[in-house]
Amino acid sequence: MRLLVSMVIILSAVGCGNSNQHSGLPTSTNIENLMTTPVKDIHSNAEPGQAIMQHLKWNAEIDFDSMRILGKASIRISRDPKADILILDTKNLLIDSVKAGSETRETPVDFSLGKFDEILGSALEIDLPPDADWVHVYYQTGDGAEALQWLSPQQTAGKQHPFLFTQSQAILARTWIPLQDSPGIRFTYEASVKVPPELLVLMSAENPQQKNQQGIYQFKMEQPIPAYLMALAAGNITFQSLGSRSGVYAEPELIDSAAYEFAELEEMISIAEGLYGPYRWNRYDIIVLPPSFPFGGMENPMLTFATPTILAGDRSLTSLVAHELAHSWSGNLVTNATWEDFWLNEGFTVYFENRIMEALYDSEYSEMLALLSLQDLKAEVDEMTKNKQAGDTHLKLDLKNRNPDDGVTTIAYEKGYFFLRWLEERSGRALWDKFLIRYFDENAFQSMTTEHFLYYLKKNLIEKQHLNIYQDELDEWVYHSGLPESLPVPRSGKFERVDMDLDIWLNTGTFPSTDQWSTHEWLHFIRGLPNDLDHAAVISLDETFDLTGSGNAEILAAWFEKAIVYDYKPAYPAIAEFLKKVGRRKFLSPLYRALANTPEGKEFATEVYEEARPNYHFVSVNSIDEILDYE
Ligand SMILES: [Zn+2]
Repeated sequence: MRLLVSMVIILSAVGCGNSNQHSGLPTSTNIENLMTTPVKDIHSNAEPGQAIMQHLKWNAEIDFDSMRILGKASIRISRDPKADILILDTKNLLIDSVKAGSETRETPVDFSLGKFDEILGSALEIDLPPDADWVHVYYQTGDGAEALQWLSPQQTAGKQHPFLFTQSQAILARTWIPLQDSPGIRFTYEASVKVPPELLVLMSAENPQQKNQQGIYQFKMEQPIPAYLMALAAGNITFQSLGSRSGVYAEPELIDSAAYEFAELEEMISIAEGLYGPYRWNRYDIIVLPPSFPFGGMENPMLTFATPTILAGDRSLTSLVAHELAHSWSGNLVTNATWEDFWLNEGFTVYFENRIMEALYDSEYSEMLALLSLQDLKAEVDEMTKNKQAGDTHLKLDLKNRNPDDGVTTIAYEKGYFFLRWLEERSGRALWDKFLIRYFDENAFQSMTTEHFLYYLKKNLIEKQHLNIYQDELDEWVYHSGLPESLPVPRSGKFERVDMDLDIWLNTGTFPSTDQWSTHEWLHFIRGLPNDLDHAAVISLDETFDLTGSGNAEILAAWFEKAIVYDYKPAYPAIAEFLKKVGRRKFLSPLYRALANTPEGKEFATEVYEEARPNYHFVSVNSIDEILDYE
């Protein structure tokens, strides 16, 4: 029952109903009130106060021909003895039958699917017999299950075998497993999955390292996780060890370059532990997915999912690995209770990523990262303010009747980062680090609301250490629009040098010496190029540095954005090729947006998109349809 009790506390601290009462730090009386009144996650149909899932036993077969998963989800629940119903989240699942009873005793029960909602899907309401503590749902996934991306052999590196991967965050786990799909609800799981014998299957769990002849694999996740961390990948995948508790999975064609790129992984894990306490998930492996993976990385526990666009060949983009690793604390260990508290996952993780990079290299390196973050943040705040979306620049979001994916913006990541950096500067690093170690330890495997975090901060840092940090300052960071006056400003000597080099080139035509430049210096240089650069200068720049032919995806994406502004036609074939090959939304959205600024560009973009769209995951398609008004 510990889980049920703690859930009531966690969910009640969510305070969705209080999301407009941003009066700042809760007093101890009202936080106790919050803790006794259960509040629902607006993005889940579950009623955890009645019956809450504790453990999932998942049996599944993956059918690549019909592009379906046939599954049985057996769920152990903890329930209010008076509850007569269990509600699970589903979206487009085909439910064959539902049984209830014990783990081994299954009696058919009545069930119904509620009204379909475009964002939430349908509530699966299951009648609970008085003594039942397990339910068993027999089902299959429907057409176009949004979490699943089925790739034809042609879309893989090896071109011989199909590939499947999932992306469950934020609320897409319900499109492949019936469960309580709320970040405030945690459960353990075990699974048995059957695939064609030439493929290997992996999950966010203890994983096999080689194929077996039957094509049946067993999985176990003994730490309780929220549904959005359910993950699966199946394909012609091979493994290479990187150290005693880490390794990398990829198609055989990519495995060597992946192993080279991630060689610093063990060191990163040790650094992270040195900062914020023990790594609590046993192993840490990474799988490099085919290029259509929509994100840079996804922090699926024990097995980070990563885009191949970080394989730069020089280990220059591994801050992404530091980011996903950092989620093993912020996000996976202490989890945002609702998607309106998303900055608690991402702001902490960007902060932590930055600290890992500082320890792995030096502060010059991490300050370059912070400055790039600041550039992204300022651009996003300007854009949102211009589009009258100032409310979305608050750290605490209001996502009522909205897709939680709307909250995936620079605000949660970079404004969250700068808030925590500001707290560090105001409290001093020693006190701040001590506070964070305790925060992760005391709240491990639990969920956190923004209000609860502010309360915890006040009790365990501000009041305890008598710090001069005031409520109106915290309110401004969390509940106000735009960026506070007190925004910390990172400094980088290397970037100042790049600024000077750029000036010299613009004024004298003398190109800088770039042999020693890191990816970050390149990005800073390209971002700093004036938008009204004349055509001859654009040509000579590209001829000198071959930016259009860069093998580094970050540099390419930054350059292409400029090339579109300059209407620099020689880059367009490479832009089209890039958009067709890469599915990472962070690159796609700005490029399609830049193209959509002119009628001619939009026509070009739409043509490319027609061809590329079937290769993108749902979360990318969802964003780009909107940018291009694609029907
Ligand atoms: Zn993240």
